[in-house]
Amino acid sequence: MRPSHLTRRIAGEGSDAWITHDRAVERLGRGEDVILLSIGDPDFDTPPAIREAATRALADHRTHYAPIGGEPELRAAIAATSSASLGWTVHPDQVVVYPGAQAALYALAQCLFNPGDEVIAPEPTYVTYQPVIASTGAAMRQVPLRPERQFHLDPEDLARVITPRTRALMLNFPHNPTGATLALDEAQAVAALVQRHDLVLISDEVYAALSFATPHLSPASLPGMAERTAVVSSLSKSHAMTGWRCGWSITPGSMIPHLQNLARAMYFGVAQFIQDAAAVALTAGGEELAAIRAAYARRARLLVDVLAAAPGLLARTPEAGMYLFADVRGTGLSGKAFAARLLDATGVAVTPGEGFGPSGAGHVRITLGTGDERLAEAGRRIVAFCEAGRGRERAG
Ligand code: PMP
Repeated sequence: MRPSHLTRRIAGEGSDAWITHDRAVERLGRGEDVILLSIGDPDFDTPPAIREAATRALADHRTHYAPIGGEPELRAAIAATSSASLGWTVHPDQVVVYPGAQAALYALAQCLFNPGDEVIAPEPTYVTYQPVIASTGAAMRQVPLRPERQFHLDPEDLARVITPRTRALMLNFPHNPTGATLALDEAQAVAALVQRHDLVLISDEVYAALSFATPHLSPASLPGMAERTAVVSSLSKSHAMTGWRCGWSITPGSMIPHLQNLARAMYFGVAQFIQDAAAVALTAGGEELAAIRAAYARRARLLVDVLAAAPGLLARTPEAGMYLFADVRGTGLSGKAFAARLLDATGVAVTPGEGFGPSGAGHVRITLGTGDERLAEAGRRIVAFCEAGRGRERAG
């Protein structure tokens, strides 16, 4: 068979993000003592009330085709929670449900971008953005999130790369991998640029519910942005439901028929019993969500405390999310070399920052994805690794 041109565009650029992870998984399979902090999959179980809702739905024969854009109860629950956080009334008809936020991003790209368009994404960039954008024939233009700004977006960088071909911004705040959020003045500057240049904003907010310091601020909540923004989110991270595959988009009503046509052409809706459980997560899962958020915040503080003793490594508490993005430039190693050697020397698997883009160089992403004790143990192994490195440097 001869694969289509599309297959080349979605092949990505061979991201370095997974190199250490793949080796770590192999070792884990051989029974070695590996602490896997290199993937964004929560270690928590999906809360029991949500699992029970799915079991009930299965017993109730909720195993048939669902309405193409999503079950009315789930869309109403998404609209209600989104209205509260956005500060304007989201109508359930503006919601489309997908098998995960990833599918929402792909669907939106297909329905919004044309070949030759330019789409701006900050880097470090979540690794799937490049193939999603490229799948449409559009080109991704990256703007740096700088370590010296704690990876906060500088709207002036954004303004510099806008051209007449720019069609959209794809933002992801709270940000994977850096844990940075979008401050009010940054969001206002983004909103002004989007409106001045007649752009679309795709706002990937899958970590919104895991904001520690301040409540999440969506750029879609600012004046004039509702009609220009597609908000994307899911239950994957907030409710430890990565494997359930349930996400959504909120867009102006004019996009809905197109997104539904895409759904019809591609995956034909999301399983009823999954959507029933998702509705329970949103309507009755508040306590569980608060517990998950508190656990990540506690783990982040714990790891930052342990890593304070690591020579050459700088760890700041993230503002949100489930990752700590540590600066290892002081060790003299690249993120890639640090991650590779750390795995070999200690069995701790982290993700090299270079895998997310040049501004991630000299950093590693550490997933807060294991219990306090094991995470502290990982931290101690990292400290010992950094201390040994300093010893080697002195000896050399
Ligand atoms: N966007 C970002 C920034 C992510 O980190 C992820 C998952 N790692 C996704 C989207 C996709 O999430 P989902 O499981 O809902 O498809």
